[in-house]
Amino acid sequence: MRMRDVATKYSFDLKDVKTILNNKKSGERSFFLEDYTLNPYMGCSFNCSYCYVNGSKYADQTSSMTVKSNACEILRTQLKNKAKNGERAVINLGSATECYMPIERELGLTRNVLKIINRFRFAVHIITKSDLILRDIDILKKIQKSAILPKDIVVKYKGDEDELYKLKAILTFSFSTTDDKIAEIFEYNASRPSKRLKAIKRLKKEGFLTGVSLMPILPFISDTEEGLNKICSDFKKYDVDYIIPGPLTLFGDGSNHSRIRYLVALKKYCPEVYEKTAKMFQKKDNLSRIYQKDLNEKICRISKNFNIKTSII
Ligand code: SF4
Repeated sequence: MRMRDVATKYSFDLKDVKTILNNKKSGERSFFLEDYTLNPYMGCSFNCSYCYVNGSKYADQTSSMTVKSNACEILRTQLKNKAKNGERAVINLGSATECYMPIERELGLTRNVLKIINRFRFAVHIITKSDLILRDIDILKKIQKSAILPKDIVVKYKGDEDELYKLKAILTFSFSTTDDKIAEIFEYNASRPSKRLKAIKRLKKEGFLTGVSLMPILPFISDTEEGLNKICSDFKKYDVDYIIPGPLTLFGDGSNHSRIRYLVALKKYCPEVYEKTAKMFQKKDNLSRIYQKDLNEKICRISKNFNIKTSII
């Protein structure tokens, strides 16, 4: 099927872009270790009610969806030039939108992007909520075998060949909970947490560095001592390599903006925590500094108890 037909079938538009790699990050590496971010699609059919994109400065709403139709062509040119100039980088897929939405099963755009990344021997870090990533194990293995890492990472791990090998293809699954029933309320279209956990098991078995982005941690639902202990215990059972935690942020006051959509879902399905959550987000996007500090300390302490790192390296 032609790209246009597949896009139409899944209600995506097509758009040519001028660049596919977002500006190189400067200074310290972020939690995700990336040099560049790359998103083959714009908008997201998973449409999670808490999605930070909705109502934020990043996009008006994730329900307007686009395939970057010339992504492969542009990427080939950009990576060819970078490789020619001796540049090495970790490319992060999935920073702004899911790269394994249902459309990807038919279109294979993320898969083709990975093939190009492999051809020019760059490293990847994929963040996803979908077990469709398992389809691409073959290419990810090739990347793990042949990517050339940026110098600063090699220097950091001098002598530790096992660690270096694994850092060439880093795979992170995003969770807000490990409870399928709760996930069904807030992230209905994504693979259920139980499926994501099974995918982690498979990827670990295949020898990949596989961890978790525990973002957003939902106030009064997954942020309690009991809730975080349960979540970390689930992650431990599946032997995740790391947990990168993050609090909830809610933006906007439009009907499709995350602040409204999340609070509406909360009122309907978790009325016992609605009032206190709404109060925490009254006239602000972020939770208070004190809450964030306490949450960070709590998750770091609990992860440590389970012997799970809170950073990739
Ligand atoms: S999967 Fe990520 S990008 Fe897509 S709607 Fe959910 S939070 Fe937003």
